[in-house]
Amino acid sequence: MEKWDVSRSKQAYGVDLWGEGYFGINADGNVTVTPEPGAKAIDLHEVVRSLVQRGIHVPVLIRFDGIIRNRIHTLYQAFSKAIEESGFEGSYCGVFPIKVNQQRHVVDTIRAAGRDSRLGLEVGSKPELCAVLAVHDLEDGLLLCNGYKDNEYIELALLARRLGKRSIIIIEQLSELAQTLEMSKRLGIEAEVGFRMKPVSKGVGRWETSGGDRAKFGLTSSEIIEGIEKLREHGKEHWLKLLHYHAGSQITAIGAVKKILREVTRMYTELAKLCPSLCFLDVGGGLAVDYDGSKTNFQSSMNYTIGEYARDVVYAISEACKAENIPAPTIVTEAGRALTAHHSVLVFQVVDVAPTAEVLRDLGDPPTDNERIGEFRELYRKLTVKNALETLHDANSLREEVIERFIQGGISLVERAYADSAYWHLLAKVRKEASELRYVPEEIERLDESLLDTYFCNFSLFQSLPDSWAIEQLFPILPIHRHSEQPSRRAILADMTCDSDGKIDKFIDLKDVKPYLPLHSLRNPDPYYLGAFLVGAYQEILGDLHNLFGDTNAVHVDLDASGAVRFTHVVEGDTVREALGYVQYEAPDLVERLRGTIERELSAGRMTGEEAAKIQKRFREALEGYTYLAYG
Ligand code: PLP
Repeated sequence: MEKWDVSRSKQAYGVDLWGEGYFGINADGNVTVTPEPGAKAIDLHEVVRSLVQRGIHVPVLIRFDGIIRNRIHTLYQAFSKAIEESGFEGSYCGVFPIKVNQQRHVVDTIRAAGRDSRLGLEVGSKPELCAVLAVHDLEDGLLLCNGYKDNEYIELALLARRLGKRSIIIIEQLSELAQTLEMSKRLGIEAEVGFRMKPVSKGVGRWETSGGDRAKFGLTSSEIIEGIEKLREHGKEHWLKLLHYHAGSQITAIGAVKKILREVTRMYTELAKLCPSLCFLDVGGGLAVDYDGSKTNFQSSMNYTIGEYARDVVYAISEACKAENIPAPTIVTEAGRALTAHHSVLVFQVVDVAPTAEVLRDLGDPPTDNERIGEFRELYRKLTVKNALETLHDANSLREEVIERFIQGGISLVERAYADSAYWHLLAKVRKEASELRYVPEEIERLDESLLDTYFCNFSLFQSLPDSWAIEQLFPILPIHRHSEQPSRRAILADMTCDSDGKIDKFIDLKDVKPYLPLHSLRNPDPYYLGAFLVGAYQEILGDLHNLFGDTNAVHVDLDASGAVRFTHVVEGDTVREALGYVQYEAPDLVERLRGTIERELSAGRMTGEEAAKIQKRFREALEGYTYLAYG
């Protein structure tokens, strides 16, 4: 057998394919993070070890600010290059939709990184608008106001203009235009507005219904005409500055991007003829992330690069404007996923393993002389390459029969336990024997999906990787260390929630979806850490409190001028007290109630004073502790 080394590990986990150069594996077998080209590679395992030493426990979300800076730089570079190459006469401006990751430190990093290129911010609700009103400090920076709006929202959006922000109210429903006209009059503040159109052409991928006739948001062409008439009626047609569409997140195929652009650019030029004030074409989000590294139009991938995307967007807009003799607009993108997904890694610890059955030399004697139970041993002994499939069929019917007899009382628990264990060892042996075959029958091949270890991991899927549960989104997952060793186990992952859905049994693969993850055996007491990568978009905010597992610890990691690793921000995860507070259990009340019960038990003589003191102490400590299991 070929010797295992880190390069084989890189290949096994596809690191170079999905990592975009940010992730690697060093000679010590540890995962590394290189936030920006030429920067020092940060040893992720070392980072975790020093966090744990400081008392910051896993699960922990590690955010690399340098990756955010590099994503913004990459996007701007792509558009500048495309503009230069095509001789486009307009310009480009990115806008970050904060819904993708509203965490203050993340937004601060994005603002700082995008300052020179005048990156704007986009909000989709009143709370998001309030956050951005306070933190957006780019003089005359774009503040795009999307989402459903009430009067309060519109009022705040207009007042933002007095704070030196260039707020543009994007009309998603015609009623918002009437509200804006009214509010503007009341406040004496002139507005700028955009129209969100509903392209009939759709994106592709999981969010393709964000576009098309039945899309939830946007104006139809007749509503757009009605909107212009309304603006004209009030002498405000010069307010119209922007045309927007959003064809859905994670658009996996460039063909769809191009197809929608044909319709949108036509709409833009027509609209610009009616309202010459129009000067922004906002192509929304949707720029995808290649989670599995396959570079295909599979749901977790994308069949294009950022460069190709920028060229296609710029080219389509440039050509359409030239053809109609319309001034070239400022192209706006609202890419969110593509800017933030790469920067966060969730690191969690494996705390236990339920191993699958091994192939044994012999099954050992059955506990009784029950003939049917004894047959398992016979099947096991007589199994060969040639009769593997037949043995599998026999084992399946024998097991069914044994279970039925157990239900009817003909077989004892001890006999059933032997049969259960024998059955799984038998399957393992069938799989092993059949691997010698030139063509492995499908039925036997499918055994691979059952013969897997379950690795129990200290995290909540619902809190930290909600899209894995909700929409079967794939994320690259791999150990963050031990890559010089060959992973000898095949596993699925189970989280700490009491929910059978709290598991991951689909993993990235170049050609398909893999039903298992290659992992190492545990080497107790050494902790075994796994990392879920590319989790910086949507996961934190969509996460929920299932079983009251709260926010994880989060740490921002950056390199200082000397190339040393710095933890720039540590955001402690929820304590039990905080998680309980979300569901209206207040700690003082809980302590008081517990004290009442203790008093009662003490008076009844069912508890000693020492026990009472201990329970109260432990309870108080637990309230202040992390919601996850205390390991490491
Ligand atoms: N803009 C709007 C209006 C959206 O609804 C979304 C998200 O779906 C985005 C931008 C961000 O999309 P993405 O993260 O796919 O770039």
